[in-house]
Amino acid sequence: MKALVLHAPGDLRLEERPDPVPGPGEALLRIRASGICGSDIARVMTKGTYSFPMIPGHEFAGEVVSLGPGTDPSLLGRTCAAFPLLPCRACDSCAIGEYAACRSYDYFGSRRDGGFAELLAVPAWNLVPAPDGLSFEEAAMAEPAAVALHALRRGGLSAGDDTGVAGAGPVGLLLAAWARVGGSRRVFLWDIDPRRVAFARSLGHDRAFDSRETDPVEAIREATGGRMLDLAVEGAGVSATLEQCLRAARPGGVVVAMGNPAGAMTLSREGYWEILRKQLDLRGTWNSSYTDLPKNEWKLVLETMADGRLDTKPFITHRLRLEDGPEAFRTLLARSEFSNKVMFLP
Ligand SMILES: [Zn+2]
Ligand SMILES: [Zn+2]
Repeated sequence: MKALVLHAPGDLRLEERPDPVPGPGEALLRIRASGICGSDIARVMTKGTYSFPMIPGHEFAGEVVSLGPGTDPSLLGRTCAAFPLLPCRACDSCAIGEYAACRSYDYFGSRRDGGFAELLAVPAWNLVPAPDGLSFEEAAMAEPAAVALHALRRGGLSAGDDTGVAGAGPVGLLLAAWARVGGSRRVFLWDIDPRRVAFARSLGHDRAFDSRETDPVEAIREATGGRMLDLAVEGAGVSATLEQCLRAARPGGVVVAMGNPAGAMTLSREGYWEILRKQLDLRGTWNSSYTDLPKNEWKLVLETMADGRLDTKPFITHRLRLEDGPEAFRTLLARSEFSNKVMFLP
């Protein structure tokens, strides 16, 4: 099979690899769509994977083409998304189904070979069969869509809430889409990249603005008649946007910290006062939930896409072959071209 193999930060090569063989309880997935995550850009170009050589990619979907011993035969031929975390099943977090907090986990695309390849053996437990009619590309959007849904659920969105999202990258935009599905009254989005703002507007977010031109806190104050946001989600991983979220939240409101920070996250004295005086709930979010109770976020994502309420197709701006990988990562790192979700179609 063909695969993109990372040998060192910045050294991604297209290589021929032996086809994986599914072990007991595993299925062989022919990967048909594999998204590039924001975290992959840093992983491939600067930070590296857990070890080398490694095939990156954790946002993938495909068709089950063969089964290992003892694997559920009904999976054969199905279109599946895949939860990329392999839990230890021995720690206290795993015991209560909090797999994202597992103390000793494995992970496709960072700790073990992942989805930038033509084939991958995946435990059946990690596979989420897609409802009929869902495309491979949509199924490959399940991972970022589940991460966005989880952040919104952590924020406890209620129907009628005014919601704000700082950072209009792929997950920020998915979060804004979920906020609409979840009954937000108004959804505000802001970013410092005017291309992202224009893209958000093209998706129908007319309350998206360039925060270098418009102070988001003042714009929200004006639009809400001073009431401010019930829920603000920080999706950029920057001190300034965290502070904007704290200032934009109403008294008793919720602020969710979601963005991966690129450096230190600091808070001014005034920003800290916002938490105290407004008695804000500041909550973290991480990954997504994969337990069946109270809700399997992954199944919910695929069902909501299949019934048409969550349309992720417009999010995909670039479709590439594996051959394009090394060049694509250079372009993504330089941000020389606008992109939202970039996908390999191996
Ligand atoms: Zn991701
Ligand atoms: Zn564990």
